Amino acid sequence: MNNSHAGRDLDTSRPHSARMYDYYLGGKDHFEVDKRAAEAVADAYPGIFVCARENRAFMHRATRVLAQEYGIRQWLDIGTGIPTEPNLHQVAQSVVPDARVVYADNDPLVLKYAERLMRSTPQGRTTYIEADVNDPESLLAAVELAEVIDFEQPVALSLNALMHFITDAQDPYGIVNRFLDALPVGSALALSHCTPDFDPPTWEKVTEVYTSAGTPVQFRAQKDVVQFFDGLDLIDPGVTVGHRWRPAADGAELPTDAQVSLWAGVGIKA
Ligand code: SAH
Repeated sequence: MNNSHAGRDLDTSRPHSARMYDYYLGGKDHFEVDKRAAEAVADAYPGIFVCARENRAFMHRATRVLAQEYGIRQWLDIGTGIPTEPNLHQVAQSVVPDARVVYADNDPLVLKYAERLMRSTPQGRTTYIEADVNDPESLLAAVELAEVIDFEQPVALSLNALMHFITDAQDPYGIVNRFLDALPVGSALALSHCTPDFDPPTWEKVTEVYTSAGTPVQFRAQKDVVQFFDGLDLIDPGVTVGHRWRPAADGAELPTDAQVSLWAGVGIKA
């Protein structure tokens, strides 16, 4: 991708997490500067490609479980990332064709490709808003304006590989609670979060690469990830390493916990 794609708000002078993640997933929607930073992460942590893939796979399984077993018909997916097939609405609508999904991200590049997130089934609806998770009031106001989600009915809040970009100084738990407060009983939180737990020295290096690229990160221990689910009923098997959360019984060889380095879980608001 070259810089002719750069819009007014599209800062291509420094790496950005969405575009680095696109590189990990083998996508094409990133710039040279993102590729260099992503390769620096991969040098320190070769598992990053497995981590990104397993993170997507967790999102697919969590979405299906919520649709099939918990009657969820609506999703608010914050920190969507650059579209990667299948996107959340495609998974959800393959189970419930009338599923409604609002996507939100703060990277202008994601907005550029948002059209790919809006190929809804005729029965369902999807939309995309550019918004920052650090400002729940504005984000929720934009979701309401979009009139895709009915706040009287359960909503799954999907925060995959997002909250490690929110440091403690930014009040990550307060932010998540603010969103959950806006959702009715029966709603859900699906969350995944990178962790240093299995290999602290490697994750120190990964933290250093992101921080020096201008992206503050805070990778958290399991107990701190569990804290995001405070007040919710965690569904089986609780907060586990991503690939151990209801794995597909397809006999595929499983990666190691250190490769995946991602805590993942789903909770229900009772
Ligand atoms: N949820 C997707 C993508 C994860 S990559 C998945 O799990 O596959 C993290 C995404 O969070 C990136 O697209 C990045 O742009 C977005 N992001 C980072 N900080 C954000 C913020 N403050 N508000 C909204 N989105 C943010």
